[in-house]
Amino acid sequence: MGRVLVMLTAAAAVVACSVATVMVRRRVRRRRKWRKVVGLLKDLEESFETPLGRLRQMVDAIAVEMQAGLVSEGGSKLKMLLTFVDDLPNGSERGTYYALHLGGSYFRIIRVHLGGQRSSLEVQDIERHSIPTSLLNSTSEVLFDFLASSLQRFIEKEGHESISSQDVKRELAFTFSFPVKQTSLSSGVLIKWTKGFAISEMAGEDIAECLQGAVDRRGLDIHVAALVNDTVGALSYGHYHDPDTIAAVVFGTGSNACYLERTDAIIKCQNPRTTSGSMVVNMEWGNFWSSRLPRTSYDIELDAESLNSNDMGFEKMIGGMYLGDIVRRVILRMSQESDIFGPISPILSTPFVLRTNSVSAMHEDDTPELHEVATILKHLGVPNVPLKVRKLVVKICDVVTRRAARLAAAGISGILKKLGRDGSVGEGRRRSSDKQMMRRTVVAVEGGLYSNYRMFREYLDEALRDILGEDVARQVVIKAMEDGSSIGSALLLASSHSVRTISNI
Ligand code: ADP
Ligand code: MG
Repeated sequence: MGRVLVMLTAAAAVVACSVATVMVRRRVRRRRKWRKVVGLLKDLEESFETPLGRLRQMVDAIAVEMQAGLVSEGGSKLKMLLTFVDDLPNGSERGTYYALHLGGSYFRIIRVHLGGQRSSLEVQDIERHSIPTSLLNSTSEVLFDFLASSLQRFIEKEGHESISSQDVKRELAFTFSFPVKQTSLSSGVLIKWTKGFAISEMAGEDIAECLQGAVDRRGLDIHVAALVNDTVGALSYGHYHDPDTIAAVVFGTGSNACYLERTDAIIKCQNPRTTSGSMVVNMEWGNFWSSRLPRTSYDIELDAESLNSNDMGFEKMIGGMYLGDIVRRVILRMSQESDIFGPISPILSTPFVLRTNSVSAMHEDDTPELHEVATILKHLGVPNVPLKVRKLVVKICDVVTRRAARLAAAGISGILKKLGRDGSVGEGRRRSSDKQMMRRTVVAVEGGLYSNYRMFREYLDEALRDILGEDVARQVVIKAMEDGSSIGSALLLASSHSVRTISNI
């Protein structure tokens, strides 16, 4: 009996020991794996780093590239496109105008009425719709017929307010968020598609004429009178409200900027034919490139798999279309290199399955258990991850978005530097009073990424203060303009009409 008891006790001890050994081994393995994840996170943070010195080098590089792009066609990756916009709206415009805005994700149609002073601006109607994904790789005919039919519906519901009762043709600005070589305020040719668009049969075609043709085929009483880049629309809207506005930046599906330049600095344009001595230049900054950009293996893979590889490198680090996909790639890599996310989810391998609005929802999740993060991960096929893994995901969102916002701030500072408004008055010539003399400078900002993602805005502001210094940054006002691109294009059209009317007198 005694021997049996001893044997049983010994067996129990052996079992307990092996269970303990297994548990310890598991814990050691888990710790080792977690240490690996911490290592991966550290690598991630390092490769996405944007220290101030590097941002300053980028500011310089942007100002230099702007200059090169103004000197000669093809002189820089920055196209620095002429817009033929020399006078910006100032509030005195009158009349009823329309705009149709084709963005990267949405199209909008608006009607505005202007009564001759700023306070009388009335947005009478505005419609905003998602662009059907089937359009992205359709044909020019399908795209423009779709836009014309949307216009037709918009106009049909006008009813009694209809402008046609006044027996004048409707004047419409076409706000177009893709690079165009303009030949006048009302005409231009597509240079290339970006942001996932790949519509065939567009090469060499005049964009405004394409829309006018589709509108005419439907017998609509509309004159496509201006072709306006979305950044230029935003600048017009900003300037209408505040004449200190000298640049505009869009942070939406993609990213781009424009600014007001002296015509004598636009060396590649021999005969600028402007009366104001300045012209708005569409930078197409999405294509900016510098060896100083913190390019990671995730950016390289994203670019290689995109429709427009080796193109739009800056946009692919900043644009709302891409941030979600960078975060997805990081999560996928981490789940391949460790098992902290459980079995590898096939959903995670689907390009663009994680949208940037989900990134901001996870990043700004303030519930103690990170419920939003858990829900979004579940949709990605990654259920039941522990809190510390959810925190890791928030950190990934932070790293990717912080880099984007800081690069965006470097871009804005590059424009200010080119215009001599960054507080540096040429090396060695800085006087203490110069900073006090800095003129107030307003930059209009528009786009869903900026307006909906608080952390992006905060990081951008912080980086601007870092780069410019508090004194100069105080003089730089970043003004958010909701729907500014669309409304501003209509205002610009109105202002070009009033110029024409006055010069005809
Ligand atoms: P478009 O680019 O068509 O002019 P928007 O300026 O509205 O349209 O930008 C839409 C883009 O903004 C979306 O593709 C998305 O990337 C980004 N976005 C929209 N909502 C959010 C959000 N809540 N958080 C982060 N990004 C967002
Ligand atoms: Mg837009």
